[in-house]
Amino acid sequence: MSDKEEFDKLSYKRRNVYEVITDNERAEMNALCTDYRAFLDAAKTERECVEKAVEMAVNAGFKPLDSVTALKAGDKVYAVNRGKNILMAVIGTEDISNGVNLCGAHIDSPRLDLKPNPLYESDGIALLKTHYYGGIKKYQWTAIPLALHGVIFTREGKKITLNIGEAEDDPVFTITDLLPHLAKDQMSKRMTEGVEAENLNVLFAGEPVKSDVGDKVKFAVLKLLNTRCGIREIDFQNAEIEIVPAFKAKNVGIDESFIGAYGQDDRVCAYTTLRGILNVNDPKKTAVALLVDKEEIGSCGNTGMLSAFFPMTMAEIIEKLDGKCAMTTYNKMINHSACLSSDVSAAVDPSYEGAYEKNNSTYAGCGMCIMKYTGARGKSGSSDASAEFMYAVEKIMDDNGVVWQSGELGKVDQGGGGTIAQYVANLNMDVVDCGVPVLSMHAPFEVTAKTDIYMAYRSYIAFYKDR
Ligand code: MN
Ligand code: MN
Repeated sequence: MSDKEEFDKLSYKRRNVYEVITDNERAEMNALCTDYRAFLDAAKTERECVEKAVEMAVNAGFKPLDSVTALKAGDKVYAVNRGKNILMAVIGTEDISNGVNLCGAHIDSPRLDLKPNPLYESDGIALLKTHYYGGIKKYQWTAIPLALHGVIFTREGKKITLNIGEAEDDPVFTITDLLPHLAKDQMSKRMTEGVEAENLNVLFAGEPVKSDVGDKVKFAVLKLLNTRCGIREIDFQNAEIEIVPAFKAKNVGIDESFIGAYGQDDRVCAYTTLRGILNVNDPKKTAVALLVDKEEIGSCGNTGMLSAFFPMTMAEIIEKLDGKCAMTTYNKMINHSACLSSDVSAAVDPSYEGAYEKNNSTYAGCGMCIMKYTGARGKSGSSDASAEFMYAVEKIMDDNGVVWQSGELGKVDQGGGGTIAQYVANLNMDVVDCGVPVLSMHAPFEVTAKTDIYMAYRSYIAFYKDR
């Protein structure tokens, strides 16, 4: 063996996925990514993601869990929690006390929510006040086309579902920014203060009523909302309305090797998880996919990972398999289960290399990333996967031709972040983060490499099949 051969054998080197995939794999990747772009355009909120997931599940033969009285191997079921959180399962041939294989992703993304009393008029313009959701760089949300998605109940109890700004003929909305000519004060501020949360006001309308009553534009808006949907101003106080980028998912780059879109954290992992479980037939261990809400604000609330929805639904599955859910069966099931927390990592950005530690970062195009731990300031807020579990996952990936890499978010003192992994770990389950590196994470237009999307999809299928 030459020194070069020996060095290549002993040392670790990241591989670009394009160096190793076959023509058939490339065709499968491109088809997957075309479907993924359509999903991103159709599912820009957690509610829309759940609706799409149910549609895809039903088409693949999944039945609502509450419509089934008994379960057996091969059955496919789903359960929806409050329209924002879904669990899908394919029942395995092994006893469920041997554990399940769980992939969990989140379907909420950073955005701007409307405040409870959003509508006001100023200087002859009607605007909507927002409260941002998740970690955003506020300046990125100005001067771009925005769409309005959400749910509002009228006084009469009618549920109105809004989706304005997505169809070709729809109007869009925007948040204005100050012209550079007059931005002397703004431009001398720190970036965190250049655009403040109370500047994130949505341009909503400009036509006044021909009357002397009150705010003329606001009055015209209220008349329009009431005529079209029966909405009164007070109804905004019950509403869940999200302001999201209005642009569509696109191929990025002259070679179309990337996808750019809003909400890829974490719909890139949610979609590949979804496609992964739709691929599962007659598994040995029961396969479970969980799409959760509220990850971006701490996994809290009754639709987040900290909700009891997952244990309660698993208990219902055990009951429908065994006729009852014995605590011992549930405990054994959890003890023998394992989870891939499907979430994104930060891809090294060549224009901001200083934020990353290059040996321990993930790279767009180098495959699915496994993050042993996340967290910030000394791994705080993280689940640190064991060597035993890391080896088990790496072996499954290697055996199934999945190109993977591992790393941390960036330089230790630069910051950090968390995922649902720590809350899955709290159930007493083995878990590790596995997902897709993202450029411009949390920006209105996030970028991923098609090869990494494909490898994430392959990794979830491999995990369901072989763990
Ligand atoms: Mn995420
Ligand atoms: Mn995030």
